[in-house]
Amino acid sequence: MADRLAVFFDPSIFDHDTGQGFFEAPASPCLPVIETHPENAERVRNMHGVLRDGPIAEALDWFGAEAATRSDLERFHAPAYIDELEAIPAEETRAYSSTTIFGPGSFAILCRAAGLTVAAASHVFDGRGMLAYALVRPPGHHAQPQMADGYCFFNNIGVAIESLRARGLKTAAVIDWDVHHGNGTQEGYYDDPDVLTISLHMNHGAWGPTHPQSGDVDEAGSGAGLGKNLNIPMPWGSGDEAYLRVFDAVVAPAVREHRPEILFIAAGQDANQFDPNGRQLLDMNGFYRLGLRARALADECCGGRMVLVQEGGYQVSYAAYCLHATLDGVLKRAPGLPDPIAYMREDSSGIDDFVKQWQQRYAEATS
Ligand SMILES: [Zn+2]
Repeated sequence: MADRLAVFFDPSIFDHDTGQGFFEAPASPCLPVIETHPENAERVRNMHGVLRDGPIAEALDWFGAEAATRSDLERFHAPAYIDELEAIPAEETRAYSSTTIFGPGSFAILCRAAGLTVAAASHVFDGRGMLAYALVRPPGHHAQPQMADGYCFFNNIGVAIESLRARGLKTAAVIDWDVHHGNGTQEGYYDDPDVLTISLHMNHGAWGPTHPQSGDVDEAGSGAGLGKNLNIPMPWGSGDEAYLRVFDAVVAPAVREHRPEILFIAAGQDANQFDPNGRQLLDMNGFYRLGLRARALADECCGGRMVLVQEGGYQVSYAAYCLHATLDGVLKRAPGLPDPIAYMREDSSGIDDFVKQWQQRYAEATS
């Protein structure tokens, strides 16, 4: 029988209102057109649409889920931080930074997104299926135990892993290929030897008080968790070949060594070459091959148990196409959609040097 993927989704996630403006730079009074916030409902409407109506639709089963409970959230997040978000009046908009916007009624939506992720993880952990994907927003991987950051409030993957650990899960791995550093997940598991966290990201460094982590190689974990946090700050302009080479040379061996029971993918599409918030060059073929590789790794290391969770991806149309390509790869299907726009190849001549330097620095950081 052909593989199937369980998709966890609830339409209430469209209601998280992040507003309008030119969020990634000081407001410009000379622009007549006002953009929506990059993390908007439209991007996820297209992701939902491409899965519902694209060629992959025949391989998907759709599920809803309850909101995450207070005890679910408290396994990853500090009670005082949850209290603070919960106390925001329903009609109020609160900016946690110039770009991290909590909109009217967002608390219930954040809880629902975390609950969908918990349900996706449980679906796989309980053996009801081997593959699940949580189509959620806002993203979660910047959310730290005590702090919002980078559009994120609750760390959906962290909350899901902790819900499984409360039920007996011992080991997990997270591969985060969102183009930004998965600092929230790193922070939650920095000294934890049982949850391997790997982030491939553009080399953007720390970005202020809510994102003090540098994402550099030497943030390799601490105490018993030393060596269990891998940051791979990819040079700007890295594309398909760079990501795949690094996956093979660094990511896959680390997951093999860790032997997780379940593999989580923080699946952003903002490393695509048209993303306004990224400076990398992946195209649909790159995401397809990442999907294939992640699946092969899950099959090899954790009995095929894999949960993908939606993170960033801000080009409203192309991110949806790249999602379809990723999931085609995960399901080992032939690519179902042609790439509508990508045609520029990357300069991949420096990749081997990058991998060598990374391995040297990681060995130093963990010795
Ligand atoms: Zn991102």
